[in-house]
Amino acid sequence: MSYSPVALLTGYIAKWTQLADNPSINYKTLVICFTWVQTAFEVYVLRRQIPCYDRPAPPPALKDHLPTETFSKAQIYSRDKTSYALAKLVFDFLLGYGLIKTGAFSTLWDFAGELLNGLGLGNEWVITHSLLWMTVLTLTTAIPGLPWSYYHTFVLEEKHGFNKSTLGLWVADTLKTYALFAVIGLPVLAGFLRIIEWAGKSFVPWLMLFLLTIQLSLQIVYPTFIQPLFNKLDPLPEGELRSKVEELASQLGFPLKHLYVIDGSKRSSHSNAYFYGLPWSKHIVIYDTLIKDSTVDEVVAVLGHELGHWYFAHPTKLLLITQLHLLLTLTIFSIFINNKALYSSFGFDPSLAVTAPQPICIGFVLFQLVLEPTDALVKFLLHAETRRMEYQADEFAVQLGKKKDLASALIKLHVTNLSSPHSDWLYSMYHHSHPTLPERLNAMDAYKGGKPLELKGTAGTNTSASEAKKDL
Ligand SMILES: [Zn+2]
Repeated sequence: MSYSPVALLTGYIAKWTQLADNPSINYKTLVICFTWVQTAFEVYVLRRQIPCYDRPAPPPALKDHLPTETFSKAQIYSRDKTSYALAKLVFDFLLGYGLIKTGAFSTLWDFAGELLNGLGLGNEWVITHSLLWMTVLTLTTAIPGLPWSYYHTFVLEEKHGFNKSTLGLWVADTLKTYALFAVIGLPVLAGFLRIIEWAGKSFVPWLMLFLLTIQLSLQIVYPTFIQPLFNKLDPLPEGELRSKVEELASQLGFPLKHLYVIDGSKRSSHSNAYFYGLPWSKHIVIYDTLIKDSTVDEVVAVLGHELGHWYFAHPTKLLLITQLHLLLTLTIFSIFINNKALYSSFGFDPSLAVTAPQPICIGFVLFQLVLEPTDALVKFLLHAETRRMEYQADEFAVQLGKKKDLASALIKLHVTNLSSPHSDWLYSMYHHSHPTLPERLNAMDAYKGGKPLELKGTAGTNTSASEAKKDL
């Protein structure tokens, strides 16, 4: 007897669906336990990093590049950032714990229902009800976070000389972010819910297609409509830097369409560079702060690294990884979509899980709470992959003969960003998407050449319709 993989998977899903919908499973208690364990783990990881700030000297790879004064400034800044992260972690835990413990999810659902009725709409308007609920829920968690955001910008960053933002700009940024949630987030959520409602049990492929379309459209919409709300992008003026970047792009066959400078200095003196765009038409964006702090050759070396990401199709690979993660998440969600035990654990009427029109949004939010502990695992795996990509992009720049300039650019970035040169290994694995600077410098030194680059057009043929932005 033979089974097709689809039939096998459907069988497993049916079996797990039955097992997971057990009235004796209290999902609320389970989520509370997960939250405790996850927070304890994150506190442990952060605390492991603190002794690194007591070390008296930089690591050997940096000892000639980091003046004592800069080193101690970096240690103090990093210590302040870690203390802030610890306090914020505890605050977020208490807020999340409070919401779950007090039954806020179902109370706010009822409140959103009253708002709906106040608008003259009945309970059959389940998607509108869900959008109101998500708005209230988002505000309930976002508003208490505002003082933290204020403190981060105007106290922490200000104290160490990074803040360039003003109160007016901060308020405007916050309001624009909320407006984007209303203009983009809510319609996408409505589409998401409508597709599940329409497709029933076979919603996974349709939802994947919908979300991928949204992701790809945002690639086009973001630089044209969203980014200008926050920053100004100007073409990089004619001159040595522009000619050298254009020369590098044409040498590699990189389809450079526009070369911009972004006014990152408007908010902060941290610096960076990245590229984005469709496979046949790409744009490079360089922070004005990077140009100000580096030589022309150093900026070109940084772009050599960025183009390494393009050459090895890293953004496409990351997009594929996120699609696989999404596929897995949605498949597991299909197990929980009609789970009465999940609804009743959080104080909802269990019949909501099975009677039409079903408020799928409730199930999805509660499911996210149950799934949250897997985020830590995903973070570890994803960071392992992005770190591998960073080494590869560094090697690419080394092969282009830019080792010396890339090393000095990275050291300067490190110095101007006041990053701490010491890291605990577990902290680094959990929090760093990039290898640490000493690791990168050592790897560049150890690099002895490899397969020669295939340049001019044949390089890094990308087949995806679009690529995500990738930072340095
Ligand atoms: Zn990179």
